[in-house]
Amino acid sequence: MTSAPDGAGLYLHVPFCSAICPYCDFAVAVARRERRARFAERLTREIELVRDSFPHAFDTVYFGGGTPSALEARDLERILDAARAGLDVAPDAWLTLEANPEDVTAEAAAAWRALGVGMLSLGVQSFDDSELRFLGRRHRAAEARRAVERARAAGFPNVSLDLIFGLPGQELRAWERTLREAASLEPDHLSCYQLTIHEGTHFGRRRERGKLAELPEEAQAALYEATHRVLGEAGLTAYEVSNFARSPAHRSRHNVKYWNHTPYLGLGPSAHSFDGGRRWWNRRDLGAWEEAIDAGTAPVEGSETLDREALALEAVLLGLRTTDGVDLERLASRCGVRLRERNGAAIARLVADGLLVDRGDRLAPTVRGLAVADALARAFDLAQGAPPP
Ligand code: SF4
Repeated sequence: MTSAPDGAGLYLHVPFCSAICPYCDFAVAVARRERRARFAERLTREIELVRDSFPHAFDTVYFGGGTPSALEARDLERILDAARAGLDVAPDAWLTLEANPEDVTAEAAAAWRALGVGMLSLGVQSFDDSELRFLGRRHRAAEARRAVERARAAGFPNVSLDLIFGLPGQELRAWERTLREAASLEPDHLSCYQLTIHEGTHFGRRRERGKLAELPEEAQAALYEATHRVLGEAGLTAYEVSNFARSPAHRSRHNVKYWNHTPYLGLGPSAHSFDGGRRWWNRRDLGAWEEAIDAGTAPVEGSETLDREALALEAVLLGLRTTDGVDLERLASRCGVRLRERNGAAIARLVADGLLVDRGDRLAPTVRGLAVADALARAFDLAQGAPPP
């Protein structure tokens, strides 16, 4: 668990994309302008519907998707105004907006900045045009470079790039080229995600027919290692499995809340919420979400209450995905789990294997540990109290 900013996070899911990428597993839809504008109106109604059910003040707002830049700036403004009017959003709340490079005109960038957006997160994915074509992206590398320049010109204090690695057949040198090109643009933040082929996607169907195969694990590991090496040389340090920042101040203030178990409210189709003990999620399908809103009901599809053991497991899983690691005192006070009591031998072994650092009050993964973060978490016995004699 990284050190937690105090306020809750507000996530607003904008489900529209101009076309659906062949690997995409998110709740997304292609829709005309009119439906997109009506979406903004419906999202403001969802804010009214839930306004009394989430008693936390927000200090971050995150427009994610989908492609939030598919909405007009005036629709984003309308949603923000409704959030500020209906929810307890701090006047200086930190705003993040995801955008696709092809949407970043000088005018759009200036309009987002005028709305108060501080972090612009650009879905670049690759600086290799053939990889971009393979991924079904509409932009090319030159457009991504222009988008970064325009973001800089508009004055965003944090410009972040999303990249994808582990494409079938991707060679180390190709990935290093993309990383170097990204680093040369001097972003403040980078997210590097490994390509996952999900069932039900176009890529998933191609894999079923034997037309596409994931990169072998060893090759994936080499690309991940290169990510740390190349970005490290450029002054971008990992703070989470997939996330790198120029300095602690440039970390994603909103996403850090997910890894810290800080409460968050998610609105829009498929969005998840968490209040510290209970999690609930919205209808995923856009039509079903719209229907619920039009009927004046909260579009929640399901929920779960996490008992202390489940909370502890999540806290350890999430904490070991961050370089700040697991805060042992916080784990004990929130979940009643004293990790050292049952795990002395496991901790010593993981430290000796170079996967974990024992900082006394925290257990944190090394870079090698980050690469196997989920397996690290499974090495722990999370039952409460001392081990049986
Ligand atoms: S742009 Fe992103 S959210 Fe939209 S379809 Fe492509 S991968 Fe999915």
